[in-house]
Amino acid sequence: MYRTHTCGELTLADLGKEVLLSGWVQKSRDLGGMTFIDMRDRYGITQLTFNSDDNAELRASARELGREYVIKVTGTVIERSSKNLKIPTGEIEIKVTELEVLNSSKLPPFLIEDETDGGEDLRMKFRYLDLRRNTVRNNLILRHKMAQEIRRFLDEQDFLEVETPVLIKSTPEGARDFVVPSRMNPGEFYALPQSPQTFKQLLMVSGFDRYFQIVKCFRDEDLRADRQPEFTQVDCELAFVEQEDILNIFESLVKHLFKKLKNIDFDRFPRMDYADAMRLYGSDKPDIRFGMQFVELNDLVQSSGFPVFDNAELVVGINADNCASYTRKQLDELTNYVKRSQIGATGLVYLRYNTDGSLKSSVDKFYSEEKLRQIAEKFNAKPGDLILMMAGQADKTRKQLNELRLEVANREGLRDKQIFAPLWVVDFPLLEWDEENNRYHAMHHPFTSPKTEDMHLLNTHPEQVRANAYDLVINGVEIGGGSIRIHDGELQSTMFSLLGFSLDEAKKQFGFLMDAFTYGAPPHGGIALGFDRLVSIFAGLDSIRDVIAFPKNNSGRDVMIDSPSNIDEKQLKELAISVNN
Ligand code: ASP
Repeated sequence: MYRTHTCGELTLADLGKEVLLSGWVQKSRDLGGMTFIDMRDRYGITQLTFNSDDNAELRASARELGREYVIKVTGTVIERSSKNLKIPTGEIEIKVTELEVLNSSKLPPFLIEDETDGGEDLRMKFRYLDLRRNTVRNNLILRHKMAQEIRRFLDEQDFLEVETPVLIKSTPEGARDFVVPSRMNPGEFYALPQSPQTFKQLLMVSGFDRYFQIVKCFRDEDLRADRQPEFTQVDCELAFVEQEDILNIFESLVKHLFKKLKNIDFDRFPRMDYADAMRLYGSDKPDIRFGMQFVELNDLVQSSGFPVFDNAELVVGINADNCASYTRKQLDELTNYVKRSQIGATGLVYLRYNTDGSLKSSVDKFYSEEKLRQIAEKFNAKPGDLILMMAGQADKTRKQLNELRLEVANREGLRDKQIFAPLWVVDFPLLEWDEENNRYHAMHHPFTSPKTEDMHLLNTHPEQVRANAYDLVINGVEIGGGSIRIHDGELQSTMFSLLGFSLDEAKKQFGFLMDAFTYGAPPHGGIALGFDRLVSIFAGLDSIRDVIAFPKNNSGRDVMIDSPSNIDEKQLKELAISVNN
């Protein structure tokens, strides 16, 4: 027998009990004739005491225990003299009578405590040790709870969890595929799913009506903090639904999660058209925890002799509340921020509305005091505010101002991780123009249905056609997205030809789906939520890595198991792959 209790449950109510505990030595300290050991397991920490006066030999063995030794102790629960009220077991300790070492441990490469001295790389290499730490484990507990709540909720709503294959054929989600060579079919490859998109649509043809799956997806993209080559989606599809039904069901799901896991209640989530999101925030995933909406200024500031504004397609700005006190240095920092190559702006124009009511701008010589006042009014600025303006080609400038808006918000502490601002962005364009290849791409994917009222524009102004596509955004992070699908074969063919597929190409890639649709495909639609992102938002973290048990690093490597790695000649040969050609 290893234990009667865990290391997280004994309290004053257990005084006097004889108990058996097993766990790891977190740390030990000697004080006079006493040795104290913090013993840890998944459930918590319990303090053990060894007193020379009671048993000198036992205490001597205790002093030999190193960090992370695995031990089993028998002892009595007694009241602690110096209590630690921060932990549930902090009022008791175990007076040990028997100690058994179950396993020794090498000295771990970093401290396995809440505040560790281990750098990111080291902790990734020894992830199994990092996972012994509370913070990392708690994230995974949250992840587990969220998965359970999602399953419970969707099950109650009649969704069926169905597994779809992992070895498939390329799915058209717009990223690169990871491919797997087929030994039995030399020269041919499977692709790992970027999402179960086509399968879930086939399940609708099969009459499954409501499907979900918490599923790994794979995309061979450049990595960022919120991206991993393999990630998890809550993937869903429903038949006989309209956009409104999907938004309502998944809004209820997300509200349910907020209530259950964070005890937060929400009213209806706001909705915003894609066009407004771009016009007011320069982003299709605006962070609406704070204001600073864009104000367009062309009418007011052009034809005044300031060439940067006069020649711009768009002059647009934001009002940073109470930031008029920014120093020259801070303004230079912001200017340099937007001039970084990742953002690529040429400059930044400011207008300070000083607390004494005076106005000071970086373009004073082109604008009268009266004009500056009109600008300030257009922003509804008050004394103490700072207006920041940018100019240039419209789309680019909006994107750059979006970056500036977020940077100012970061500096001003407006992106509080304990505040949650969900938002539906709807009415995405159906297509997006690909400058490089001179053709349209499906903005969501090629199965997304155009809005009925825009259908007449499909052949004449395809760029103006809006889709029945929607994204769920929380705090400026895209948490999920989906669409109502095309279920009509003819419309699907039109769509493929708009996307530049010949009928042959379309058949080759999606023939199975097009065929299936000739056997009575019901109207259907769906959504996929990024599970890792949802957990990391709930946990108040910036990186999804911290909510994944064994994540990859920024180069897509698992440094713990050292993957990807070479495979030997024999294996390559079997797979009919030659690397040195
Ligand atoms: N398959 C889509 C995605 O992964 C989501 C959907 O349309 O349901 O983004």
